[in-house]
Amino acid sequence: MTRGQDGLLSVADHDRGRAGMTYVYPVVSRRAGGVSVGVNLNPNNACNWRCIYCQVPDLQRGGPPPLDLDRLEEELRAMLTDVVHGDFMARAVPEGMRRLNDVAISGNGEPTSAHEFPRVVERIGHILKDFGLAGQIKLILISNGSLAGRAHVSAGLAAMACLNGEVWFKLDRATRAGIAQVNGTATDPAAHFRRLATVAGLCPTWVQTCMFSLDGSPPAPAEIDAYLSLLRHGRTEIPALRGVLLYGLARPSLQAEAARLGPLPESWLRGLAARIEALGLPVRLSV
Ligand code: SF4
Repeated sequence: MTRGQDGLLSVADHDRGRAGMTYVYPVVSRRAGGVSVGVNLNPNNACNWRCIYCQVPDLQRGGPPPLDLDRLEEELRAMLTDVVHGDFMARAVPEGMRRLNDVAISGNGEPTSAHEFPRVVERIGHILKDFGLAGQIKLILISNGSLAGRAHVSAGLAAMACLNGEVWFKLDRATRAGIAQVNGTATDPAAHFRRLATVAGLCPTWVQTCMFSLDGSPPAPAEIDAYLSLLRHGRTEIPALRGVLLYGLARPSLQAEAARLGPLPESWLRGLAARIEALGLPVRLSV
């Protein structure tokens, strides 16, 4: 756990254990310009992918254990009580960031691998309503999208759409080799594109992409061309697609490849953002 000298949560401080809870953790999000309350459905640090830039410590392959929904609800109610009615903002959040932006279902693994996902969304909906936050803040799902199309995922996404929901769908690379190298999964880009279309058809969706150098080099031009081609296809075939969240390497990887990864120059990222925008897709860049 890292804690700033002033005792306040910092944008780099995303330690999911800091609130002493199993499922719920607060984050000051530079992207959101405020506080995001995270709901971690993978407390065992297990994911079905293995991204080389992943910031989950002791990441393992797999899915979550059965969730204790009552505990999750209790923790979220306690956290929101502190954030909305207590002194959390003054105590732990830097000035200028003292606003609640969203509740984010994310965590230390792929959240939709929890079979309870739709029931989690339902419970969060009730809680947001009780706090007068329904429709006032976003409910975000941060997902690798790999399980889109499964019945429990579709049910959860449809419920999210009624709760000011938004999905951040991971698309880092667009060739089989690139996905295998970066995400550690044998995924067909065309199949992943179809999953993106499925998700966007159920709930407003942004693509999220992480770009970094590997062994000192940026992604190869052919990889970028494939990525832009997939986005171009998305622009025409998926009208509901909102845009692209483009990230540099903000925090160090906690995987074995960490030393091979490095941040790209801001000019490189801005250049890619301009090429995406030229396709007609909005870009939110976090360098
Ligand atoms: S999908 Fe997310 S949690 Fe899973 S390995 Fe990749 S970055 Fe980590």
